[in-house]
Amino acid sequence: MVMITGDFEDTSYLVDLINEKRKYFGSKTKSCSKPKTIQIKQLKNKCIVVTSHNPSRKYLSLVFGKKDIELTRLLFYIKNEKLKHDRFVCHRCNNGRCVNINHLFLGSQKDNIDDCVKKKRHCFGERNGMSKLTRKQVREMRKLYAIGEWKETKKRYWGKPIHSNKYNFKRKYPASYLSREFGVCRSVAQNVVSGVTWKQVG
Ligand SMILES: [Zn+2]
Repeated sequence: MVMITGDFEDTSYLVDLINEKRKYFGSKTKSCSKPKTIQIKQLKNKCIVVTSHNPSRKYLSLVFGKKDIELTRLLFYIKNEKLKHDRFVCHRCNNGRCVNINHLFLGSQKDNIDDCVKKKRHCFGERNGMSKLTRKQVREMRKLYAIGEWKETKKRYWGKPIHSNKYNFKRKYPASYLSREFGVCRSVAQNVVSGVTWKQVG
């Protein structure tokens, strides 16, 4: 086990171990026989990123013999020695490139998605490629839907109107009108105005 001294010290100790081990294995490309030494740098928000390898790649995968393994997984494995294949190494810090060992946690696929939804990084609302509406339109639809007045229900008994105490809310712009106006299906409009969808828009 690694002694906890500080984020950078913890991670750099593990990375040094990996660098040492990597000398015995070949590099991914045969043209350069010596694998590149992994160098890391700490950012202001305590995230640690790899500076020696291509920064455009989100996850750095290393080759050991015939196997590829992500650096984050390897770090976690060395530190905890408990890593099953169906487990994911997730980030606490929203930064996919971060390799800070103290920012990583082990979770299932569901944990990873739950974490993503909790941090609002998933595709929802306008960010969803399928969405036809915008936040502004949703607010407008709800405002229009709320317009209306309470009217007494006209009940008839044998063709004659009778007095009733029941009142119904007569909407000026019902969902069917809004669906035509905003170019969406009627059920979509109904879900929007009743708050089934677009819950995040207040
Ligand atoms: Zn981080």
